[in-house]
Amino acid sequence: MHFDLITIFPEFFAGPLDHGIVRRARESGIVQIHVQDLREFTKDRHKTVDDRPFGGGEGMVLKPEPLFEAVEKLLGQTMGDSAQATAVSTGTAVVLLSASGKLFTQETARRLAKLERIVLICGRYEGVDERVAEHLATEEISIGDYVLSGGELPAAIVLDAVTRLLPGALGNEASTENESFRKLEVEGSIPVADNSHSRKARLLLDYPHYTRPAEYRGWKVPDVLIGGHHAEVAKWRAQQAAEKTRRNRPDLLVS
Ligand code: SAH
Repeated sequence: MHFDLITIFPEFFAGPLDHGIVRRARESGIVQIHVQDLREFTKDRHKTVDDRPFGGGEGMVLKPEPLFEAVEKLLGQTMGDSAQATAVSTGTAVVLLSASGKLFTQETARRLAKLERIVLICGRYEGVDERVAEHLATEEISIGDYVLSGGELPAAIVLDAVTRLLPGALGNEASTENESFRKLEVEGSIPVADNSHSRKARLLLDYPHYTRPAEYRGWKVPDVLIGGHHAEVAKWRAQQAAEKTRRNRPDLLVS
């Protein structure tokens, strides 16, 4: 998987890409990450990437030219113009991080993990000229219902969530199967609440984890986990995952 991060703050990514799973994935060649300084694609002395909004209003807007030219250079193709637009190849996504994009979920991460190349465009200021969303990006992604000051943190989040799904990234292949937001494979009722057995879980959160000591400040690890009875442990974990999903994220349980 090849990632390109287009940003006016390339140094921002020094930390987030240098730890844990993402770092190991880079070192072992599972991912290649290129951080592209947007200002390299400006032509004036001041390296201007932004301008005032048409129609008036607060703040500045990232100009389309440097962004189009950066993506075209990175992908080695032209995007064309209004007379003849060119699509990017099917294995490539050009993602604009945007508070008004489609919500990023684990399902989005799974879909993106199947691609060969992802270009992440980080907005700043009041946002990005809309022609970037319409004619350059293949999708516009929001990481949540809140407004951040730039697309760099969102881009790092997308990159992290996708990277850990890539084969070999976690070391233990099974580990991404049993975590939060997995789809319940068997159709049918699960014990979410006494009167809701007709409900089906669409997505489940993770079950609770415990480690040593078995008793800490008087709080004990559930007996079933210490008993060593695998079927009982599996049953307890399924129940706990369902219960925790109901408690913390009832929206994930669809009727
Ligand atoms: N005026 C915009 C906010 C701009 S914030 C609005 O009201 O929606 C500046 C940049 O931060 C955006 O261009 C985008 O790249 C990034 N950003 C802010 N919130 C985000 C979110 N929830 N998800 C993804 N990117 C976000």
